[in-house]
Amino acid sequence: MSLLRKSGHDRHASARTESSTLPTSAFVLRLVVGVSLIGLLVVAMAALALRQSHRQYQEGAALATQNLAQVLANDIAGAVKADEIALLTVIDEYRRQKAAGGVDVGALNAHIERVRTRLPEIDALRIADAGGKVVFGSDVDPAAHINIADRPHFVHLRDHPGAALTVSKAQVSRVNHKWVVALARRMDRADGTFDGIAFAAVALDSLARKIAALDVGTHGAIALRDADLNLIVHHPSVPNVAPGGRVVSAELAQAVRAQPVAGVYVAGAATDDAQRTSAYRRIADYPLYVVVGLSTADYLAEWRKQAKATALLAGFCLLVTVLAARLLYLAWRHQRAATAFSETLVDSLPGVFYRLDDRQRLVTWNRTIEFVLGADGLRAAQQSMLNVIHADDREPFGAALRKAFELGHAEVEARLTIADGAFRHFHFVGVPLKIDGRSYLLGTGVDVTPHQEVAQALREKTEALLHSNADLEQFAYSVSHDMRQPLRMVTGHLQLLQKALKTRLDDDDRENLAFALDGAKRMDAMIVALLDYSRIGRLTEKKTWQESRDAVEEALRFLAPAIADSQAAITVGGVWPPIFASRDEMTRLFQNLLGNAIKYHEAGQVPRVTVESSTIADRWRISVRDQGIGIDPQQRERLFQFFARLQPRTRFDGTGMGLALCRRIVEHHDGRIWVESAGEGQGSTFVFELPLPAAAA
Ligand code: ADP
Repeated sequence: MSLLRKSGHDRHASARTESSTLPTSAFVLRLVVGVSLIGLLVVAMAALALRQSHRQYQEGAALATQNLAQVLANDIAGAVKADEIALLTVIDEYRRQKAAGGVDVGALNAHIERVRTRLPEIDALRIADAGGKVVFGSDVDPAAHINIADRPHFVHLRDHPGAALTVSKAQVSRVNHKWVVALARRMDRADGTFDGIAFAAVALDSLARKIAALDVGTHGAIALRDADLNLIVHHPSVPNVAPGGRVVSAELAQAVRAQPVAGVYVAGAATDDAQRTSAYRRIADYPLYVVVGLSTADYLAEWRKQAKATALLAGFCLLVTVLAARLLYLAWRHQRAATAFSETLVDSLPGVFYRLDDRQRLVTWNRTIEFVLGADGLRAAQQSMLNVIHADDREPFGAALRKAFELGHAEVEARLTIADGAFRHFHFVGVPLKIDGRSYLLGTGVDVTPHQEVAQALREKTEALLHSNADLEQFAYSVSHDMRQPLRMVTGHLQLLQKALKTRLDDDDRENLAFALDGAKRMDAMIVALLDYSRIGRLTEKKTWQESRDAVEEALRFLAPAIADSQAAITVGGVWPPIFASRDEMTRLFQNLLGNAIKYHEAGQVPRVTVESSTIADRWRISVRDQGIGIDPQQRERLFQFFARLQPRTRFDGTGMGLALCRRIVEHHDGRIWVESAGEGQGSTFVFELPLPAAAA
């Protein structure tokens, strides 16, 4: 089950959730069904296209054979007509000679020969008498006594007065033994009785040449048949079938019975085994048929190539489909794993995760947000996320949403109304996301209520501390200030006493009195130093921009008498940047460090002091180096504490508050101070560093 919840009205969310929850078996089933359907479609379309083109090829072949048959029939009809006219011419000549008194054999044969030579396909023109004896003709020898009375066409013409041109079967001529077909006409005497026949013998090989001129392809066939469908001539020649035989396919015989004039049929030929589409046509006015067949193998050769290519293409399509399906499956698995990963990730986030549409409606969310908002809150957020944001935080939350869309990222802290009606502080981070051209905002929110509470407690504590610190400082200041009054009285009265008893006291008393007075004065000096200390940051000048060098110059002016007394040599060098600091604090700082550097020297030694200023990155560094009595490294830290002194007062006077004051001033400027010294008698270097604000850089 998806851990990511989605809103009903969001199309993208539902699509994503559905794809990620679909079981593998269901997806694979869909894929297989889809691929099979595509496969079936491809095969069906290829088969349909091939069927259609097959039919077109067949129809084309049928039409071509019909046209060829028509052309051949016309051609042969024309030739036969010419032959018939030749016969009639010969008959007319024969009759004319007979009527004129008797047939002149030589003249008639010469006439016959003239006519024959005009029609090259006619092998011979002859005349047989009523008894069947062949009597005239260019190549006829009457002495040969050739008789054709038994020939069926002779019998037919003899027995049928008024018969039209008759065509014999293919036969071997009795005159010259050639395979011929005879075109014969009956001749009548004046009284209408039978007077024999005139006939033209057409050589079968000349007929074969005629039909062979027609192009019917490598395996095509052309046949000329008589009225009974007996074969006269066939192209190509059929070795085992003699002319005149009735070798005819059942399909042709049946087609002619149904349509005697013309028709088309498809059959394995009877003459050979080739499958052909054939057209037959009866030659107009004559008892002859032409049959023209185009071989299926010939006219479908191109179609077969096409079928092969189509099958290959279909196979390729199927292969591509299967490969595409495999890729789809792999991509789906990959995407499912990625989705499962991101959903688990998002759901395991400690905070809330959500996706808002461009109208701030909650469209996707993780489990945590359900717990946080509760059912009602969730419904309200689906109307608008702002509904579950604290009223005071809606403005910044809305602004952050806009900012996220504009800049690609935004963060905001806002209170979320949680299930029990209370509020919790969340830190939200949002980034924009585009899905199918629609804008969304992906957001995460972490509950920062505990941090808020801690921060609040810290704020309160700090405030209380600052308060009590200020109180303490005020207290220290007041106490110090107020303590000076009675101290001054002590000092004053001691001085009066000293004056009044000047002559009456012995040396010991005088010394004791002097100690008491000195103690009171020192105490006053210490209180003054304490007062100075407590003033830092409270009663000193505010920080301003100034030249750092000014402070050191001013300190030197204050120290002029001490410098003059000790004849100190002071060198000031380096780079002096502008600083943001309290003027009088800076002067006090230099005054103390320079004062010590001048003071802590062996008697009779001239102090040599070097002040060096530099900037290191964003810090200002000052070092004050002397060649005086030096400092025991063990004591370095202690120096900066209240009233810390390393030297007896008898040797060097002082309160021990100078360096404590220096540290307080440096810390008030967020810096640090330290001392470097190789040891006693080795001189000392006091160094402090203050940050340089950006404006000064
Ligand atoms: P004071 O000078 O009034 O004693 P400070 O706080 O200024 O008080 O100095 C504390 C102690 O640090 C001094 O008593 C002295 O022993 C030591 N000290 C300060 N500056 C130097 C210095 N430049 N060389 C050697 N010792 C120093």
